[in-house]
Amino acid sequence: MIDLRSDTVTRPTAQMWEAMRAAPLGDDVLGDEPTVQALELKVASLLGQDAALFVPSGTMANQLAIRTVCEGGDEILAHRESHIIHYETGSPAALSGCMISPLDGLGGVFDADAVRGAIRHRDQHAPLSRMLVVENTCNRGGGTVWSVEQFASVATAARVGGLHLHIDGARLMNACVALGVGPRDFTSHADSVSLCFSKGLGAPVGSALAGSHACIARARRFRKMFGGAMRQSGLLAAAAIYALDHHVARLAEDHANARTLAAGIAEVAGLTLEGTAEKIPTNMVFFRVKSALGSAQAFCDRLREAGVLALALSSDRVRMVTHLDVSTNDISHARAAIASTAKSSKAGA
Ligand SMILES: *Cc1c(COP(=O)(O)O)cnc(C)c1O
Repeated sequence: MIDLRSDTVTRPTAQMWEAMRAAPLGDDVLGDEPTVQALELKVASLLGQDAALFVPSGTMANQLAIRTVCEGGDEILAHRESHIIHYETGSPAALSGCMISPLDGLGGVFDADAVRGAIRHRDQHAPLSRMLVVENTCNRGGGTVWSVEQFASVATAARVGGLHLHIDGARLMNACVALGVGPRDFTSHADSVSLCFSKGLGAPVGSALAGSHACIARARRFRKMFGGAMRQSGLLAAAAIYALDHHVARLAEDHANARTLAAGIAEVAGLTLEGTAEKIPTNMVFFRVKSALGSAQAFCDRLREAGVLALALSSDRVRMVTHLDVSTNDISHARAAIASTAKSSKAGA
């Protein structure tokens, strides 16, 4: 099976297993997990923040930022397509009592005017505008990358408006590799940052939240409250350290594979690629299935029989994601499987 459902599906490489096996372990809740502490220092330095906290998932990293910064009744500004709105089970409301004001903009990107326009007047009637979340890359936006300039202008609007700026950087390293910049080009403007090790970086489990000393100390308490404090988690942190050391630059291969995959999809009658193949920003490819071929889910079911897994996101939209466990050769096979599945779907319809 060529699994293009998500970049979360990767298995540890032999060398990553070796790093996990060799890691010195302790008890992180008792404060003596050397490998977790090494990872937290490494992430803080990579992102130019005071401190970092290792957590089980990207959702927990985002929700700890929200719980740490916001009070019940506060409002968070985020793009209408953002992960915190669509894929975190309503947790800003459930865990922190917050509402979200959705911002508009193409591909998951908005401008400073959108931020300024959404900040409320301080008045007893209005929720308090407390936080801005910028997702980079933006998943539902198409794996889109923020330009450093646009990000900086939005960051300025947030600062002037008194908002805490949180980067949902689940795939921040994909954005950095795509642009050829370092993470600090973005994170130096931010008050907190989440980063996933279990996406394109290829670790099996784990994310981090980085921020000021005060923010991370508070987040550490809420991590315990949310049930995310772990014990010999150095086992997982070792995989994350290995991923940061060895799997960042290679993200460029995933991006090249995504463009090759997209070029194949663009040629298939009955499928409509979103965007242009040469301009696929990172490792995600989205396309629409025309009704003559049946629903997106039916198309994915038939594609599965041809040995390729993809995700149907709606009645006609499909997502494919390239990653560490998909080779250039796999992409050629996937292209052939997609073309033959579309052809037979048409014949069958
Ligand atoms: C995957 C992802 C997350 C976190 O997801 P988990 O499955 O909880 O690790 C957060 N934000 C974005 C943009 C993501 O793609």
